[in-house]
Amino acid sequence: MRIAQDGTKTPRIVAEGPSADTLEVSIPAKDFLFSQASIVASVMLENNSHLIHSDFSKYVNNNGDTWSNDSLKANYKSWTGAYNFVNHQARDDFAVGVVLDAAMRRNFVNASENLWNYYTDILIATHRDFKDLVGQITNGGVEYLSMGCDAMKIQCSKCGAQHDGEPHQDCGHQSSKGKYFVDRAGTRRISADILGTSEAGTVEFTEASWLTIPPAFHGAVHRNILPIDRKASVRIMFPKKAVERKASSMFLGFK
Ligand SMILES: [Zn+2]
Repeated sequence: MRIAQDGTKTPRIVAEGPSADTLEVSIPAKDFLFSQASIVASVMLENNSHLIHSDFSKYVNNNGDTWSNDSLKANYKSWTGAYNFVNHQARDDFAVGVVLDAAMRRNFVNASENLWNYYTDILIATHRDFKDLVGQITNGGVEYLSMGCDAMKIQCSKCGAQHDGEPHQDCGHQSSKGKYFVDRAGTRRISADILGTSEAGTVEFTEASWLTIPPAFHGAVHRNILPIDRKASVRIMFPKKAVERKASSMFLGFK
């Protein structure tokens, strides 16, 4: 991402990107508030196992959903072109913006034992038409974000049962999601639904919501408004595939 003074008046395609599947686009700051946030984090699984390493329990969402390192790596790019909503009111006519970009960063939980996970940071464009909301984000009245996604593959971290999406055949552990259990070896672990696999397309991130209530994942509070001059624009490489998504066409309108 870079900030340009290129006279962009409405979102536009500047050029073909460096690879055949991307476009360089320019999005004007006069129309959008740009925020960056760490929206999801993954967990490390035990080797050759569905069990979540106990040092990663705190990275599981409060509702008991999580992603393995492999799953988040394979699927994080589906953030681009996702909706921006408020409080998960997931209807086109309630959309307030679009997710422009996503990046992964590795976070060492215990470097000496080589324990690490990924954080996904996203760039959100909230349209300035939503004046009250943009005002609240700017003055810190709204600071939390939460995610929405569709999972085509789900694995129970307690027993390893695999399910094809939701609603899934219950292995008996749905009600223990987010709760702790003691495994056969005596280790206390969290029970969760591991969303997706190492295969791309097993999770689609569909929306990032501004929350007026506390979030499912407490890591998703670190958001940062980009101080960009209203006359400037943000230039990013945008996947061609993401141009087709509904939120992109609603807010960016690339032709
Ligand atoms: Zn289970």
